[in-house]
Amino acid sequence: MAPICAANADVLTCLHIHFGHRSFRPGQGRVVAAVLSGRDVLAVMPTGSGKSLGYQLPAVILPGTTLVVSPLISLMKDQVDELNRRGIPSAAVHSMLSNEARYEVFDAARAGKLRLLYVAPERFASDDFLRVLHALAIARFIIDEAHCVSQWGHDFRPDYRRLRAAAASCRAIDGAARPPIAAFTATATPEVRKDIVAMVGLDEPEVLVAGFDRPNIHLRVVPVGDEMEKHELLPQLVSGRRALVYAATRRSTEAASATLAAAGVQAAAYHAGLKDEERTRVQDAFAAGSLRVVCATNAFGMGIDRPDVDAVVHFAIPGSVEAYYQEIGRAGRDGRPATATLLWDYADVATRQFLIDGPRRERPARAGLPRGRADGPGAPDPAMDAVEVARRKDIEHRKLQRMIGYAETGHCLRATILHYFGDTTAREPCRACGTCEPQGIDAYERELVRKILSGVARGGERYGRRKIAAMLAGETSDLPPNLAGLSTTGLLRHEQPDTIERWIDATVSAGLLAVSGDKYRTLSVTTRGRDVMTGRAGDLRMSAPARVAAFSTWRRVRSPRGLAHRHRPFSNRW
Ligand code: ADP
Ligand code: ZN
Repeated sequence: MAPICAANADVLTCLHIHFGHRSFRPGQGRVVAAVLSGRDVLAVMPTGSGKSLGYQLPAVILPGTTLVVSPLISLMKDQVDELNRRGIPSAAVHSMLSNEARYEVFDAARAGKLRLLYVAPERFASDDFLRVLHALAIARFIIDEAHCVSQWGHDFRPDYRRLRAAAASCRAIDGAARPPIAAFTATATPEVRKDIVAMVGLDEPEVLVAGFDRPNIHLRVVPVGDEMEKHELLPQLVSGRRALVYAATRRSTEAASATLAAAGVQAAAYHAGLKDEERTRVQDAFAAGSLRVVCATNAFGMGIDRPDVDAVVHFAIPGSVEAYYQEIGRAGRDGRPATATLLWDYADVATRQFLIDGPRRERPARAGLPRGRADGPGAPDPAMDAVEVARRKDIEHRKLQRMIGYAETGHCLRATILHYFGDTTAREPCRACGTCEPQGIDAYERELVRKILSGVARGGERYGRRKIAAMLAGETSDLPPNLAGLSTTGLLRHEQPDTIERWIDATVSAGLLAVSGDKYRTLSVTTRGRDVMTGRAGDLRMSAPARVAAFSTWRRVRSPRGLAHRHRPFSNRW
């Protein structure tokens, strides 16, 4: 079967003609080239990064049919529909298909009409299917969600163990013993990678890990001495922001939510122990944007697709780096600055260990909650024997140790995570983590400062800090009319006026705002402030008011009251 795109056509032209994209996303170009080269490939890319293009584009260029093994029927259907819509003839074979429809697909495949044929892994147990398969010339044997072959992964599927033999039995387009295999996964831990190579039988594969960095997420670890310190810090970490707070236990989600409510921050708890109606209510309110903060166990987030989450706070250490990265990955999906903060107390490790070792409950399947993913580590298969249980516990303990390593590292936090995932392109310092920029402000705060500068400029540089703060907070009742209707009025309506005042102080200290010498104390924007405001000054380095001060001295100051003391110099200065 002739390819749609000539083999010597420029790959980018092909990308544009068939997929409508003008350029590759990070890592895609290398993956496409590797798959085209005819070597075996292991490509590790996060979900949503555009993994599928890594085999769909080669499928359009290469002669023969590209076979794609995928365990997710709904995903398969979506992709096949999309490909056909784009004029790339494709089909899927899975258990949901009627016999009639299946034979129709087989006929199309045998007639060489399909560029891509998607199959569920259990098809390889069917003689009917294998007969069809052996009649085809297979360009590439693609294994999607390849971590399913590994017991180290979170989604082991015994049917994946058949794939090595299945690939070996395929007829290649160029007379080779078998078609080249390209395995794709979003799970990048070293154990899983090693397993995939061994179990699928990849032959000296080109291993590509790409796209894991989320440069707009600022990473921070804040060591705390006890629960009380966490509760003191929490309101400042999420106030004004759209945020997710992840806690280890149901009770802890409720305690965090109560602390926020007491501090005037609108929040709700979410966990598998709530009634279905309550869970739906919280999920819907967060999705609709009316609820800004959710304190949750890891049950929350699946199926939540708000792109504008500003902050993810971990109220306790999660069970693994994978879980951590998946959870913080829900921040800043729109590419805007976001912050991930881990409140780190060694005492929380015991809770995690208990969740791993403790008696495991089989949780009832509920709408929207995949079984075993509800709270804590995966609930076991009831049929699992004692040896298997012990083996899984051992894996989970080791994963927890790696997460502790992250919390305690003195190295760049981003590089630590990326290296864990096998991305060797990570460079230190990243300049957007608590190690590389210990005194700095995060990107959300940088925006806050820009908004303050804009507010002062819009106000005509004729007002003092109280009026500017009230204007930005949208509290217009006592404001002169010309401050009440500015484009910047209410720009920071999710922040408290006194928080904004403290930030104005910090902005003055950083030399971005000036204060008049007379009794009116009017604010004006300095030349440097103007550069920051307009984005001309690339890098904004300054210290935040109390909060970051609290972070940097936290290791030394243990008194929960310490925080209140550190506020004082700021509020007394004027
Ligand atoms: P994954 O399989 O990694 O979860 P997909 O392959 O479904 O992700 O891609 C996610 C989205 O990104 C899709 O909507 C896809 O059209 C889009 N996409 C993929 N590659 C590119 C690209 N080079 N430019 C723009 N959009 C792209
Ligand atoms: Zn860093």
